[in-house]
Amino acid sequence: MFAEEELLPLSGLQHLQFCARQYALIHVEQLWEENRLTAEGRLMHEHADSEQDEWRDGVRICRGMRIRSLRLGLAGRADIVEFHSAECGVMQPRPVEYKRGRPKKGPEDRIQLCAQALCLEEMLGLSIPEGDLYYGTQRRRQVIALDHQLREATEALIARMHLIFQGSVTPKVAYKPKCDNCSLLALCMPHSVCSKSARRYLDGALRKIEHGEIENP
Ligand code: SF4
Repeated sequence: MFAEEELLPLSGLQHLQFCARQYALIHVEQLWEENRLTAEGRLMHEHADSEQDEWRDGVRICRGMRIRSLRLGLAGRADIVEFHSAECGVMQPRPVEYKRGRPKKGPEDRIQLCAQALCLEEMLGLSIPEGDLYYGTQRRRQVIALDHQLREATEALIARMHLIFQGSVTPKVAYKPKCDNCSLLALCMPHSVCSKSARRYLDGALRKIEHGEIENP
């Protein structure tokens, strides 16, 4: 069991799946830079995190619910947790995670949803067999079965996150195509960004010289 002060942010799972170096830069070195993609995602989450609970068609809807697991050493907020009436009279929880964009090929969104469910199960002493992912572009929910395989993958990633955090070692930089969409690109590899913008400037200047827009000195 982890102590309260050892709990790590659940949001780190998304960063770690995207890139271990990004996780370490944000959570170990405490760096953060916002780009358009993270800003859009944040706005969508702020709407879901508004902490206004309501009842709709017999379902209690809790927004921005604080969740945690002492067993896994994890804490965070769930966008939405719905409580549905079950036959046994107990309200059955169902996490709903909001995402900008469209469904991804990888398991990252399902893992984040599953981590929320694991926290809720520990807190409420209930089992949660499924939840939903809501995608901004599709504007509809996708039902996600929280099966054994997904639970194992989620717990393995959480364990890896604790290892990196405890080791406090930031993995070395290695350029990959996805780096171009990374909110930390300029902080992670500033030389690459500088050389790219210098190359763009020189290409533009050469084109202008070729078209006679500026004189070749
Ligand atoms: S720029 Fe690339 S290597 Fe650096 S943190 Fe982002 S994804 Fe990872």
